[in-house]
Amino acid sequence: MKKIYEHLEFARVGHFQAILESEGIATLIKNQSAQVGAGEIPFTEVFPELWVVDDNDYDRALKLLEEYQPPDTEKLTDWTCPKCGEFVEKEFGECWNCGTVRPGNALESELEPPGSEG
Ligand SMILES: [Zn+2]
Repeated sequence: MKKIYEHLEFARVGHFQAILESEGIATLIKNQSAQVGAGEIPFTEVFPELWVVDDNDYDRALKLLEEYQPPDTEKLTDWTCPKCGEFVEKEFGECWNCGTVRPGNALESELEPPGSEG
């Protein structure tokens, strides 16, 4: 098992987990309860961590995450999802909550094939 990602914001880690799980890669999130104990946070901050269960999936998982990292996030701005109203950070090209693609996003159209659910 290998750790592939960690971030202060659990939403982001969870987003990446959803991406990997959708590709059939088994993952595990550690420290996901780290932000629950507000007010009792020790000096050593613990970030939520995303782990790939099978080492054989690690390289593929890494590529998937890299593909989801926009090359120039500086030009982008935080946005609000038109579908569910969720606040989404600029790093995300799609809503972490419902998967809606960023409106007015001129990035390459990488539409997923329909009917992948279930
Ligand atoms: Zn949404």
